[in-house]
Amino acid sequence: MNFYQLRCAYRVITQFNQNKIMPNKNDRLPDNVPGPYYVDASCIDCDQCRATAPDFFRRNDEIGFSIVHRQPVTPADIKQAEEARLGCPTESIGRDGGHGVR
Ligand code: SF4
Repeated sequence: MNFYQLRCAYRVITQFNQNKIMPNKNDRLPDNVPGPYYVDASCIDCDQCRATAPDFFRRNDEIGFSIVHRQPVTPADIKQAEEARLGCPTESIGRDGGHGVR
């Protein structure tokens, strides 16, 4: 288990106990491209977002998490990214990362 995974486990357990799991832009993974959508350090690498919206999410093999590799722009893009965001089981995908927040 690497540092990010340890930190993620701690955060998920803590927030689950407090019943307030939500994406945290302060934990935004550094490899996300700039923009409103991001994956934070609570990702559990389940593959849901990558399967749902591969144009925007991909795996970073070095850290073992998903990242946003392209920001959605068109309404069709955003619909797909939103489907991935809402389907994330750990609520690790945020859209409040700045630069055109919707
Ligand atoms: S759906 Fe959420 S937990 Fe699963 S890989 Fe994507 S960001 Fe990580």
